[in-house]
Amino acid sequence: MIPFIDLQAQRLRLAGKIEAAVQDAVVGGAWVMGPQVRQFESDLAAFGQAQHALGCANGTDALILPLIAWGIRTGDAVFCPSFTFTATAEVVPWLGASPVFVDVDARTYNMDPVRLEAAIEAVKAEGRLTPKVVIAVDLFGQPADYPAIRAICDRHGLKLISDSAQGFGCTLDGHHPLKWADVTTTSFFPAKPLGCYGDGGAVLTNDEDLAQEMDSLRVHGKVVAKDLKAGATAFTHDPKYLAMRIGMNSRLDTIQAAILIEKLKVFGQEIEWRNRIAARYNEHLAPHVGAVPHVIDGGVSIWAQYTIEHADRDGLITHLKDQGVPTAVYYPVPMHLQPAYGRFPHGAGGLPITERLKDVVLSLPMHADLDEATQDKVIAAVASYKG
Ligand SMILES: *Cc1c(COP(=O)(O)O)cnc(C)c1O
Repeated sequence: MIPFIDLQAQRLRLAGKIEAAVQDAVVGGAWVMGPQVRQFESDLAAFGQAQHALGCANGTDALILPLIAWGIRTGDAVFCPSFTFTATAEVVPWLGASPVFVDVDARTYNMDPVRLEAAIEAVKAEGRLTPKVVIAVDLFGQPADYPAIRAICDRHGLKLISDSAQGFGCTLDGHHPLKWADVTTTSFFPAKPLGCYGDGGAVLTNDEDLAQEMDSLRVHGKVVAKDLKAGATAFTHDPKYLAMRIGMNSRLDTIQAAILIEKLKVFGQEIEWRNRIAARYNEHLAPHVGAVPHVIDGGVSIWAQYTIEHADRDGLITHLKDQGVPTAVYYPVPMHLQPAYGRFPHGAGGLPITERLKDVVLSLPMHADLDEATQDKVIAAVASYKG
């Protein structure tokens, strides 16, 4: 079986740089929030066209940090796609708020702005929940339709999060999603395109006040600059031990930051390689499948997944497995059909696109080190299916 994502190939390509960085972090002794964290945050902000980047423990915490900062609570509605990974919606009920599931575009699989506005209006008309936030997801690596979604958020006075756990590094008309979103969140889980060697995450924002709030929240509500300015200078002891707000422990480990510094250096190159692989897959697979991926006009995907449609999806999966080609289905059970999430509302008219996609999508091997011979093996295996 060829690997679905070959992380060892990347490790070997980086030729000991990561092991050396880990060794330095261990010897350095500042194992939590050490200098490598600060360095990585500055590199990440530069890469992501952001004024502020803050590391945190994982991509799920990255989503809860802005929601806490904005005071989201019981009775609030947070709009997000149903066709996404659990974490996108999971953080919302933590605060007593309700996710409202929105259908996706049939070609890009990202939040459909028309369905979003219909869902907001339905929630307003019903009057039970107060619309507060939209979480757009950059599914499988490509940017959501941010200009349209931002315009809707502005019309209705809503905050916008780009959940870029799969899409960090993607662009639309040359801009990162943060040009439109109030905050971008990402994950460094190993299988994500920019992954570390454990768990990690980050938030990026151009909003100085929000950055300080989130910086405080990730370290137990510690004092930050704006608190000192607001009069906290009168403290008679180290303000580090003052809790200004109810926070959490969501720090990024120094070792993980050290790894990520090295990985970010080659990330731009890897995105180019992933795009070359996707273009080759597109060209050779299009005649054999229901649909190859469609990227939004002006968008550059980072190809967290390469996902096709096939009418006999399960038959093709079995055939590919017999040929030594692994596949994955993202997502067989959309959020609104999950046992734990069925009670939350979804947009009027149901979620027909999401419910169709769950039965026809499958993802093929995709990673920066996928060589042409292996791509050809995948292509030949798909082409040979006569189901
Ligand atoms: C992976 C993922 C997350 C969560 O990231 P973790 O680091 O695993 O907590 C959130 N949203 C999406 C869309 C993801 O794919």
